[in-house]
Amino acid sequence: MLNQYFSQQDSKHPITVAKFGGTSVADYQAMLRCAHIIKNDSSNRLVVVSASAGVTNYLVRLSQENVSVQEQTSIITSIRAIQLNITQHLTTDVEQALNAEIDTLLEQLSNQALMQSQQHSVKQSDAILSFGEQFSSRIFAQVLQSVDINGAYFNVQQVMKTNSLYGKAVVDTEELASACSELLAPKLSQQVLVTQGFIGRDGLGETTTLGRGGSDYSAALLAEALNASNLAIWTDVVGIFTTDPRITEQARAIKEISFGEAAEMATFGAKILHPATLIPAMRQNIPVFVGSSKEPEKGGTQIKQSVESNPTYRSIALRREQTLVTVKSPAMLHASGFLAKVFGVLAKHELSVDLITTSEISVALTFDNPSGSTQALLTSTVVQELEQLCEVTVEHGLSLVAVIGNGLNCVKGLGQSIFQTINDINIRLICHGASANNLCFLVAEQDANHVVEKLHRELFV
Ligand code: ADP
Ligand code: ASP
Ligand code: MG
Repeated sequence: MLNQYFSQQDSKHPITVAKFGGTSVADYQAMLRCAHIIKNDSSNRLVVVSASAGVTNYLVRLSQENVSVQEQTSIITSIRAIQLNITQHLTTDVEQALNAEIDTLLEQLSNQALMQSQQHSVKQSDAILSFGEQFSSRIFAQVLQSVDINGAYFNVQQVMKTNSLYGKAVVDTEELASACSELLAPKLSQQVLVTQGFIGRDGLGETTTLGRGGSDYSAALLAEALNASNLAIWTDVVGIFTTDPRITEQARAIKEISFGEAAEMATFGAKILHPATLIPAMRQNIPVFVGSSKEPEKGGTQIKQSVESNPTYRSIALRREQTLVTVKSPAMLHASGFLAKVFGVLAKHELSVDLITTSEISVALTFDNPSGSTQALLTSTVVQELEQLCEVTVEHGLSLVAVIGNGLNCVKGLGQSIFQTINDINIRLICHGASANNLCFLVAEQDANHVVEKLHRELFV
């Protein structure tokens, strides 16, 4: 069936780019379900896969400093077990050929992990992190063939050209578009290509990655480059919910949501989509579907330019592991140039500031500072450099709660409905007014789930 989940967009190529996340390619049964999704809709021409669930976390550990040889061996054994557990379900010939490829890759991985433990580099980290998608894409192409789909592996590094910002590389979208029309598009009429999310290659020929959870973004960039009619993000939940369904059972799936609202959710921590995913989709007006590969029959969420209803409250997002930095200096009073110096230090270390509030002599800044990140973090070096300029206080263990909706800057009594509901909670910082689409505030990590649950009950139930 063509385009089962979408209405056709006239000016676009009738191609769906389908992305399957880690749990969707975690084991053989999961991969088989995905293969049937591809089979049931002939518009699915390009498949973008994440690493099998758990593999990237293992690779993150391997990419760190001071990992003993014993631990390296044990991690590689665990990764091998995850992948061979899948290949054992394929025919003997296919299994043997795949296992040989996997073992060759594992040998390269093992050498790189050893070098990394002796001399660490961010460049090597990216090379190590890229292995998960290299395994899963090879295996999934064979699973497609096992259900009689003409599926083939495609190395995304041929087209996904990036800069050399290892851990958070920036894709050259013009190069991607021209490489896709030359190397990828012509093949899609004959074959369903299976490629890797998350990874790219820089001008030096080195492997790069786009940041954790980056496969969604890869898929969106490829959909844009191919001028695809649709992007489908297949994951482990039946769409985008009013809040993370892991936090409250009362969360409910949203049928339709605008690009703007969904982008706001992704930016403010709704893990279901990588924060940048909707940027290429919005640029090219490509509708995005989000659904569960376990239960495709249940449908999912449609994300598109305009939707019928624009409710005041759409959802609540939560982003954990936030750091609050307060910089204070009497020299700031009526002075110019102080903030430029503070931001100069942050820019030098490639740190991006999230939220800002100011008073006469102090400024509070928040940073997304997740522990498993491969990106620049707020290190003690940065803090020491800031201390040359002013008094610095750093607070960890905070979560950012964002209420997302429409026209939030003109709703009377908004503050009352939100803050009255959680008047037993200490709120560290509030940002409201800059965006019509969100109001957000910081709370202690241990209060976060309680705050989201309570607010969700107040605003959505
Ligand atoms: P994948 O591996 O498929 O990329 P992720 O784990 O990255 O999947 O994202 C899916 C998860 O996102 C869900 O299991 C859910 O717990 C979480 N999540 C967070 N916020 C939301 C939300 N608003 N709606 C749905 N899921 C959400
Ligand atoms: N495998 C990568 C990660 O776990 C990318 C992704 O899954 O989107 O972060
Ligand atoms: Mg994800």
